[in-house]
Amino acid sequence: MDIIDAHTHVQFPQFDEDRDEVIARAKEKGIGMVQVGTDLVMSQKACELASQHDGMWATVGIHPHGAADMNKFPLEEMKNLLSQDVVVGVGECGFDFYNMSQEERHSARETQQPLFKEQIALSVAFKKPLVIHTRDAFEETLSVLEEQAQKNSLRGIAHFFTGGKEEAQRFLDLGFYFTFGGLITHNRSFDDVIRFIPKDRVLVETDAPYVAPAGQRGKRNEPSYITETIQALADIYDESYEKVKERVRDNTKAIFGI
Ligand SMILES: [Zn+2]
Ligand SMILES: [Zn+2]
Repeated sequence: MDIIDAHTHVQFPQFDEDRDEVIARAKEKGIGMVQVGTDLVMSQKACELASQHDGMWATVGIHPHGAADMNKFPLEEMKNLLSQDVVVGVGECGFDFYNMSQEERHSARETQQPLFKEQIALSVAFKKPLVIHTRDAFEETLSVLEEQAQKNSLRGIAHFFTGGKEEAQRFLDLGFYFTFGGLITHNRSFDDVIRFIPKDRVLVETDAPYVAPAGQRGKRNEPSYITETIQALADIYDESYEKVKERVRDNTKAIFGI
């Protein structure tokens, strides 16, 4: 395997019509993939898909948008899935306050926090890294992680990282990695933070079906498009495509233990 898309969702319904073709196009380019769970059903599907293909892994988790009554948290089902070898991480989980008023943020914090903490506990118990989703919520996310890191050593990835150097430094202090996706192919505002983060902590992702790179803009994203993001990284670092490709793949293997 040449490349690993460290965060994608090929199990989503957007790929129901042509999933086999999407996977074949990725495999042709030597691209492996980590199918990231966002709720119980999507986590189960991620595991099924990963167990059917070589070079494919899954994570199990509940996105902050799925935060609801904690009494309904599918703990046993999650634990069963986490025991599988194809499962390499917990998440995506964290906080998402996108487009919320102050008041909405307050109540969202109350519902999202216990869900996040439960998944941090699973990550520690199963020794599988966290895949962190944080949108408009760096302070909340980092303070929960920093507090939890006092008790247990945490491992994880800040996925679709959009923060600045200060947030990056706090994630680095926690020992975390970072994924960057299609956004960096057409938005130059992340170049500085990418150069700031040590090169051995940077991974690439598509987050397909979302956020296609510049050359595919407006289309449904898919893992085979990840080469464009690797090229964008190579341009930012002023290094060869080959060199960056190998390094981000090795970083991905290191954090997921694959
Ligand atoms: Zn996300
Ligand atoms: Zn995602």
